[in-house]
Amino acid sequence: MERQVDLDKLTDGRRYGSGDMVRADSGGCVGCSACCRGMGDSILLDPLDAHRICACFGVPFEALMADHVALGVVDGMILPHLQMVGEDEHCIFLNAEGRCGIHKVRPGFCRLFPLGRLYENRDFRYIMQVDVCAKKNLGKVQVRKWLGEKNIAVYERFVKDWHYFLKDAGETLLEEGAGEDTRRNVNIYILKQFYLRGFEAEKDFYQQFNERLAESSAVIVKNH
Ligand code: SF4
Ligand code: SF4
Repeated sequence: MERQVDLDKLTDGRRYGSGDMVRADSGGCVGCSACCRGMGDSILLDPLDAHRICACFGVPFEALMADHVALGVVDGMILPHLQMVGEDEHCIFLNAEGRCGIHKVRPGFCRLFPLGRLYENRDFRYIMQVDVCAKKNLGKVQVRKWLGEKNIAVYERFVKDWHYFLKDAGETLLEEGAGEDTRRNVNIYILKQFYLRGFEAEKDFYQQFNERLAESSAVIVKNH
């Protein structure tokens, strides 16, 4: 989501594309799990994250909602995020060895870290956040390799489409002066369409997502 922050202080000042090299490689994070602790409600799950985790455990999204995922409000929209648990507030998926218990299907937020995304002009670029990774002397790595997404172009299209769909939906609600009931109904509709309804494992995720996005945009988004 978009935040008003002083980017020069928080990043190395550059913008990266997926083909660029960046000093982000934490070398396997040996002995460290700092960014899996104390993250509050910031580890948001997009529909692909939720689909991958559900498919990995063979459970519907409702099952994750029981104790792994909670709902929070981000820029006026209700979205799911991973829960932090215990006295040290560690991620619910951090295992006893201090490693990610869902490494292969970890959320996009975790795949990116210490990179982040900067959304501008209906597009986004990658940014390198400074002083967020506990490891010093990070290695150079190509952004797309760091993300580990097979089809980076399709993935980036999805990231953009999801981000701007939520943004447009939020702005439409604002412009229309939507009351509490309308806001709640729109948020419930989005949660159902993109999380609770689930995506069929046998079919291409992106195709199913795009169909639902077109359907939902026609219902919710106006003039953006
Ligand atoms: S999902 Fe994995 S990588 Fe992400 S915060 Fe949790 S334990 Fe860490
Ligand atoms: S803080 Fe850096 S080194 Fe530590 S787990 Fe996170 S990415 Fe890895």
